This record gives sequence, C-alpha cells and structure tokens, in this order.
Amino acid sequence: MAILVTGGTGYIGSHTIVELLNEGYDVVIVDNLSNSKIEVLHKIKQITKKDFKFYEVDILCREALEEIFKKNSIEAVIHFASLKSVGESVAKPLMYYNNNIVGTLVLCEVMNRYNVKKMVFSSSATVYKGSDSPLTEDSELGATNPYGNTKLMIEQILRDIYMSNNSWGITLLRYFNPVGAHESGLIGEDSVDTPNNLMPYITQVAIGKRKQLNIFGDDYNTYDGTGIRDYVHVVDIAKGHLKALDEILNKNQCEVYNLGTGKGYSVLDIIYQFTESTGIDIPYTVCNRRPGDVAICYADSTSAYEKLGWKSERNLDDMCRDSWKWQVLNPFGY
Ligand code: NAD
Ligand code: UDP
Repeated sequence: MAILVTGGTGYIGSHTIVELLNEGYDVVIVDNLSNSKIEVLHKIKQITKKDFKFYEVDILCREALEEIFKKNSIEAVIHFASLKSVGESVAKPLMYYNNNIVGTLVLCEVMNRYNVKKMVFSSSATVYKGSDSPLTEDSELGATNPYGNTKLMIEQILRDIYMSNNSWGITLLRYFNPVGAHESGLIGEDSVDTPNNLMPYITQVAIGKRKQLNIFGDDYNTYDGTGIRDYVHVVDIAKGHLKALDEILNKNQCEVYNLGTGKGYSVLDIIYQFTESTGIDIPYTVCNRRPGDVAICYADSTSAYEKLGWKSERNLDDMCRDSWKWQVLNPFGY
C-alpha cells in the first residue's frame, strides 16, 4: 500500500516525502510541475537512497488521476497540490478557485470511487481572522483574499464529506510560517521570482542577489514595531504529516491541528538571528506596511502535541542555518 502525495515536488511536499521514505512508506507522487522542478526527484533519491513513483499529472485531469489509482494500491493521500501566492490570487481569482477547489473536488471524487478515504490536507494560518494570538483551532475564521478563501472552502468541503460518511479519516493541518530546508542542503524552497516571504528574501540579500531587505512597517503594536510571526522548520512540518497519517490510518475522524512553534518572532529578531547564525549582515530599510498584514500571528499548537504527539524540535538558529545552507549550495535553485 502506498501514500499518494499530490504536489509532492513542491517545497513542503518534497520534505515530507523524504520523511515518508525514511519511515519505510511506499510513495507515489503526482505533480504538474507548475511550481516545482523535476530535478527535486533526484535530490530526494540522493537523500533517502529509496525509490518511488512519479506522475507528471494535473489533479484536474480526472482520467489521468484515475489511471494512477487503478495502477497503484493507494492507502491514503497527502494533498499539497495548490497554488499559493496571495497576490496572484487577488489578480487571478478564477485560476485559484479552479485549481485549488476543483482540483480537490476531482481528487476526492476519484478517492471515493477507489475507496481511498484517508486524507491529510495542507491548510494554513491564513484561514484565521487573525486578531488574537495565540491562535487555537477554535479561533475565529475568516480569509481576506481568494487564496485564503480556497483553503477555508476546502476545509468546509472536507468536513462535509466526513459528515456525510464517517468512514473517512481527514486531517486538516494549518501551517504557520514554514521556513528552512533539509539539513543536507539538497532540497529547499526554490524561489524563482522575487520572494514574497521573509526568509527567502533574507537569504537572497545575504547571497547578494538583492541589495537590501524592505521591512514592511515598524509601527505595529509589537515590542519593536515590526510584524510577529510563528516560523516553523519545514522538516518539523513534514514530520507532522507522518503523525497525522498515523492517526487517520487507525481512526475515522475529521480533525484540525495548528502546526507552529507557539513562539512569535519579529522581523528584526529574524534579521539578528540570521546574522548570529551565519555571520552575514543583512542591510535593510523600513518602508510602508504591506496591505493585508496583521501585527501578530502565532499558534497555540497544544492540540497537535496532546493528540498527535507532535511538537516542533528545531529552533530559529536551525531555521536560519538550514535556509542559508540551501541558498549557498543552490544559488540558482534546482
Ligand atoms: P509549492 O508551490 O512549493 O508546492 C505545491 C505543488 O503543487 C507544486 O509542486 C505545484 O507544481 C503543485 N501543483 C499545483 N497545482 C497542481 C495541480 N493542479 N495538479 C498537480 N500539481 C499541482 O508550495 P508549498 O509551499 O510546498 O505548499 C504546499 C501546500 O501547503 C500548499 O497547499 C500550500 O497552500 C500550503 N501552505 C504553504 C505554506 C507556505 O508558507 N509554504 C503555508 C501554509 C500552507
Ligand atoms: N516581511 C518584510 N519584508 C519582506 C517580507 C516579509 O518585512 O520582504 C514581513 C511581513 O510584513 C511579516 C513577516 O515579515 O510581518 C512575515 O512575512 P511572510 O510573507 O514571510 O509571512 P506571512 O506574512 O504570510 O505570515
């Protein structure tokens, strides 16, 4: 029996596959390579010395997806495949609703048809309305952009599927801010365009690709005025999927868990820690706030600890060092 990983050549998917293979799972990957490169497959093999199947398939293509379910004995699905840029989703909402929601509907229909009823789904802290951190799974929900709406809607769709038939086992994982890379430096976040996120931007400044970091506002109501987030190492996030999988392989349910460290760090904290961890200064300038940003967002991950036995193990130093190692070893990405 194999685990089907949609979006498996992407950033979080590739790290999760390494953990799955290391734990002895058989893995089948589906990805249309719209935001990832085929080269990652060799790197995964290099790290794990294990083999797996890969299909270059769009999950919207029902026939191709059905073929995969026919040819392989699939036990459960980890569903990463999604478009994920907030800005792009505002400009191209139809593309986001089609890819993320219709893609998930097709996947669920095919799963149902082949009697595969176990799924771990990638949700996000973006589903929270976001005022009162720490955020628990019961905090108020509300997205402010089409990308976030797709995550909220898919969560609801998956809950409804479970309500209609309790033989499903579904886990919704709400990631906070995944950063870092595999300790080997062989796989990491491959940012081709200008990164939107803080850590890849910092590593690009550090390597000289960009002149300086723009800090989006230093007048928030926080201890140093800059925005506070819950950065969590991607390998810890990856391991969370194995815990979630363990639970649903034994239990029918629809549960939701936050995956974060429970600690918030400001933009300035990250800059100082990066310099501390790598010896490289990050020049920066303060500019206007970024529209849509909240001051503070961090997780209460007690539920993941108590019910899944998961907690983050890597600290900010690991996150900075591993992000930097990936950047240095792969200055042009894969
Ligand atoms: P990513 O873009 O690196 O990986 C997503 C993968 O899905 C890509 O390889 C892409 O080619 C593939 N894909 C997209 N649409 C597809 C389709 N229709 N058919 C087949 N493959 C398709 O993103 P990531 O950072 O690894 O994120 C993985 C998941 O986690 C996504 O669902 C994302 O929304 C969610 N998430 C990410 C973050 C983050 O900060 N990275 C935070 C919260 C949630
Ligand atoms: N940020 C910044 N400059 C950048 C990118 C991000 O100052 O070039 C800030 C952003 O305003 C936020 C924090 O860094 O306070 C984390 O931003 P990111 O986009 O990584 O995560 P998100 O805001 O989606 O949680």
